[in-house]
Amino acid sequence: MNSTLIQNASAMLTGGLETEARTSATDLRIEGDRITEMGSLTPRAGERVVDARGCVVYPGFVNTHHHLFQSVLKGVSAGLNVPLFEWLQSVPYRYGPYLGEEAIEIAATIGIAELLLSGCTTVADHHYLFGTNMGYDPSATLFNVAERMGVRFVLLRGGATMGRSFATDERPPMPTQPLDVFLREVEHSTRQFHDASPQAMRKVVMAPTTPFYSCTPDELREMARAARSLGIRLHSHLSETADYVRFARDVLKSRPVDWCAEHEWIGPDVSFAHMVHLDAEEIAICGQTKTAIAHCPQSNGRLGSGVAPVQALAQAGATVSIGVDGAASNEAADMISELHAAWMIHRAVKGATAQSVETLVHWATANGAKVLGLDYVGTLASGMQADLVLYDMTHPRYAGNHDDATAPITAGGAAQVRHAWVAGRTVVCDGQIPGLDLAELSARARALVKKIQAS
Ligand SMILES: [Zn+2]
Repeated sequence: MNSTLIQNASAMLTGGLETEARTSATDLRIEGDRITEMGSLTPRAGERVVDARGCVVYPGFVNTHHHLFQSVLKGVSAGLNVPLFEWLQSVPYRYGPYLGEEAIEIAATIGIAELLLSGCTTVADHHYLFGTNMGYDPSATLFNVAERMGVRFVLLRGGATMGRSFATDERPPMPTQPLDVFLREVEHSTRQFHDASPQAMRKVVMAPTTPFYSCTPDELREMARAARSLGIRLHSHLSETADYVRFARDVLKSRPVDWCAEHEWIGPDVSFAHMVHLDAEEIAICGQTKTAIAHCPQSNGRLGSGVAPVQALAQAGATVSIGVDGAASNEAADMISELHAAWMIHRAVKGATAQSVETLVHWATANGAKVLGLDYVGTLASGMQADLVLYDMTHPRYAGNHDDATAPITAGGAAQVRHAWVAGRTVVCDGQIPGLDLAELSARARALVKKIQAS
């Protein structure tokens, strides 16, 4: 069995909470797809030894909410200075219908490359461009790119049975599918790609784009039942803006969390992106039911949506995880940037004791894995999957630091990932993604953006 010894790390964060966040271990052994030992270890005959002097080791980050297709819709000027509704109309709904198989492949490659180089090793992608007669299966395209690049990949299988009101006649509307087609395709993807095991490389989640707007209430309930009978989890967007809460109050005569609960969208197998606007009772319900949140602070900042009450949710018992959201509403869709921003935003609003780095890393690793049903992922410990990252601390940004363990987050900026592994397989080596030509990718992206702008 392949064996690798990572030796002499200057610090490690385990992904655990409080007293378990740190370890005195300087060395870590990978055998096959898992971590088999941590401590002060000596090399074995024939073992590969990685000198980690000057490096910090973290578990690979688990990104629980993304839209990879948006990696070719960064910085669209019509969407730069407007709130969510206008942004949806002028960016993803404006360009999404024009993105075909090649565009999805390029966008997914860009997004996963950016994530890998920020220390992220598991990607949950909320893809919602599903229609009839597409001529290709977007799910297969995404799983193929993820496999080629070596990341764990969870498809949050989005889509809608009905269009949104701002889809105009002049341009193609966002694709939709009737419920029976939607459910049949989710079932097909589940059989084809979903691995129920806690160390899976591939999972599928039922994820209609937005509960209020993507389908009828009865269809939403039917989707929840179908997911549970398939043994897959549930995900969607919720309460991203104050408008969302107003819509629930005025039109549905309810609160978003109550309404989801009435339609069987609540519980430990459910996660919602954003949940920026919750009242105290909704927070308590999420806590009691162990419902999870994918907290996306940079996107919420970029769109002026607000700051999610994640500390209160965690306190109540909800599972808090971290997502970068699509790059069309977060041009720095990287996990180090996301955690640095989270660390700053919550403290700016709630004071210096509001948020520790260790808790953020726990949310972005162990909790993210828990949300996705990956129980053997997200923590550095013997027996866990070998998904881990070495951050190079020799950059001047980190020189002079008194606490290497937290420095990748406190210092922010571009992460210096030297090496990364997923299930014991090298996915970043000396700062490069093996087999990926970044110059070629950048050229393909430029050509595609020109084409998209002309659409
Ligand atoms: Zn989103």
